[in-house]
Amino acid sequence: MSHAPASRKPSPLRTSRAPLDLDACRRDLWPRDTLRLAQGALPPAPTEVAWPEDDDQVRQALRRAADQGLVVVPFGAGSGVCGGASGRGDALVVDLKRMNRVLALDPDARTVRVQPGVLGQHLEDWLARRGFMTAHSPSSIWCSTVGGYAAARSAGQFSSRYGVFDDMLLAARAQAPAGPLLAGAWTPPGEEDLLPVLCGSEGALAVVTEVLLRVAPLPATRWLRGYAFPNLPTAWSAMRGLMQAGLWPSVVRLYDPLDTRLNRTTQGGRKHKEPDAGGLLSRLRQAVAAVPGLQGHLADLPLALPGLVNSLAGGLGSEVALILGFEGAPEAVAAQVELAGPHLAAGRDLGPGPGERWFAHRHSVSYKAAPIFIAGGFADTMEVAAPWSRLEALHDAVRAAIGRHGVVMAHFSHVYPEGCSIYFSFAAQGRLQTYDALWTEALAAARAAGGTVTHHHGVGQLKARAAAREAGAAVRVWRELKARLDPEDRMNPGRIFPGDEPPAPGPPPPDGGPVFAVDLDSTLAEVDPQADPRAIEEELARRGLAPRIRPDRPWARWLTTLRRDSLDAWEAPLFAVQARFPDGASARIGPAPRSAAGPDLRYGLLRRAHPELVQIPLRRFDPAVPDLVLRPRPGAPDARDLRPTWRKDDRWGFAPELAALAATVPSEPARGTPPRRSPSVPRRDAAPPTPLAPDPGPSPDPGPSPAPERP
Ligand SMILES: Cc1cc2nc3c(=O)[nH]c(=O)nc-3n(C[C@H](O)[C@H](O)[C@H](O)COP(=O)(O)OP(=O)(O)OC[C@H]3O[C@@H](n4cnc5c(N)ncnc54)[C@H](O)[C@@H]3O)c2cc1C
Repeated sequence: MSHAPASRKPSPLRTSRAPLDLDACRRDLWPRDTLRLAQGALPPAPTEVAWPEDDDQVRQALRRAADQGLVVVPFGAGSGVCGGASGRGDALVVDLKRMNRVLALDPDARTVRVQPGVLGQHLEDWLARRGFMTAHSPSSIWCSTVGGYAAARSAGQFSSRYGVFDDMLLAARAQAPAGPLLAGAWTPPGEEDLLPVLCGSEGALAVVTEVLLRVAPLPATRWLRGYAFPNLPTAWSAMRGLMQAGLWPSVVRLYDPLDTRLNRTTQGGRKHKEPDAGGLLSRLRQAVAAVPGLQGHLADLPLALPGLVNSLAGGLGSEVALILGFEGAPEAVAAQVELAGPHLAAGRDLGPGPGERWFAHRHSVSYKAAPIFIAGGFADTMEVAAPWSRLEALHDAVRAAIGRHGVVMAHFSHVYPEGCSIYFSFAAQGRLQTYDALWTEALAAARAAGGTVTHHHGVGQLKARAAAREAGAAVRVWRELKARLDPEDRMNPGRIFPGDEPPAPGPPPPDGGPVFAVDLDSTLAEVDPQADPRAIEEELARRGLAPRIRPDRPWARWLTTLRRDSLDAWEAPLFAVQARFPDGASARIGPAPRSAAGPDLRYGLLRRAHPELVQIPLRRFDPAVPDLVLRPRPGAPDARDLRPTWRKDDRWGFAPELAALAATVPSEPARGTPPRRSPSVPRRDAAPPTPLAPDPGPSPDPGPSPAPERP
């Protein structure tokens, strides 16, 4: 089977300078631009737009831009909310909507190869007809593309079970000005895997032209239910318990007291709606209009007095609603529901209604902002994340910063064993100064509270400075790769990390070791990456803990040999990384649990600077719980159905009772014995980084290949 896209005779590269075509890709959905539009100002139109159909035409487009002295802006569907694809007058926009073919599904390997311009919903429809799904379900699924998900590190509504888009992305092909690039599982032997940097590069490195994604079978059973908890901390504790128990819920969504009240979720509300600032404002207006004497006067009261509205909201009571879901094989769902019970003991069971209503309305969301802009206000969202130990501080700090300017509410919907994201929805009076001040203060608050400034919306223009501050001296890794792949700085220049942001000073070297610190709430340990991993295991065991992953050599060496296809499971093998460059500059990056603050620079940093600290995932050590090797047996669910993985064997991450659904082979070595090598760890040592590869032509056949077709 050919690895190349469909053997159609390509037409010549289509381009246009017609005003209507240029208007269509003038901007994305950054609310600041919408606010300016409502005030009569438009971002500049690009100079030209091109619609390539294959890699060759993408290369032609890049050459065309170079010949004409234009910068290049890749354009998916323009649903980005941070200004990543907007506002360049001197640009050739490479619009990928004609590269919209699904190339091959491999049901055995559970992978699908896709061109970047496929809309998310079209891909899911195509896969569903064949019994599969990626399960990537952003609210924008009808108006966003696979290439955009990779470029902006998107996350969908079922991320707690299936991972964010980074986790599903197994391999990618891209065209950079310096040549083609193969990353992830397609990385040519001996070369540095640049998938972590390509994913999240927001069009500023290369045009992503093909991806290999993990897929899962459509679930046989879906279980959804609502619970009321007395307050946020009690609900956080339940969520954390569920995730750290080795259960893999598909949906974990918690609404703050205001949103819970507006949806009447805990009072048998009939119409659950996804929270958004548009809905919030219209409901607040209805509430104001319902007060005799106020009708017709104070429609803008909620926005004029955000402090008052926020403190009134604070007096609504503390009860919060949680929606929980499990899906998959019936036996696995039943086992997980039972195991979840004790973690939900502090909650009041609301029955299946809230969950089923949410599921039915999960995409009928977030399009209600227009009336706010028309009425002279603005609405926007901000998604941050932190380890469990910092979640409350992050929530309080960012909420206070936004609340000084606008009416704000929040929900929590991307949940991990190590931490959680917070999604703030807010609306305020439509002044640009208010917009800018709100964002500056909220981003600074997120950083000061130890969170990441973006969990899944990416960086764009909005968060460029904040992302550069978060990356600190690690930005050098980006600059080095950018200079190599895009030597003329033609790809979306200045986006992600602005050139003039001085790197924040890095932290001093850590003391002690081999275990520097343990964050028990977040099941994370900061360890010496140069230390013998047995010494780390022994010290952790003394505290009743064990690392979830057990490399056979020091972490610093193991992580730099790691390739995208080396781990059986999708979870991150490491979180924060601290490293020092030869000139003494140091960087600490990668706050748990996930971040979309530009590309993942951690692996590149480990290769280029001296690693001083890595933060690794833990499990509570229980000698009664063996390390598990799951082997499918007749009649038992495939281990990959218990928890989505790419490979058939999975050595960690299950609740033991759940794992008992498949045949289990205890393989826990006695304490103190050398750790085993996982069979999936590559045996060769790190090779020097050489990212540019010749186009390989035919690649290993991933399995049966349906004829490429438009979804
Ligand atoms: C109503 C609404 C709901 C949303 N809900 C979610 C959600 O639930 N989860 C979530 O993660 N996001 C959400 N978003 C944000 C947005 O949908 C995502 O950021 C999405 O990943 C953008 O995809 P796109 O195809 O529209 O990309 P675009 O907006 O076209 O581009 C985004 C960035 O990626 C670059 N890019 C696009 N395609 C390529 C390519 N092939 N190669 C290289 N660079 C490329 C662009 O240059 C730009 O910098 C939402 C947005 C809206 C408007």
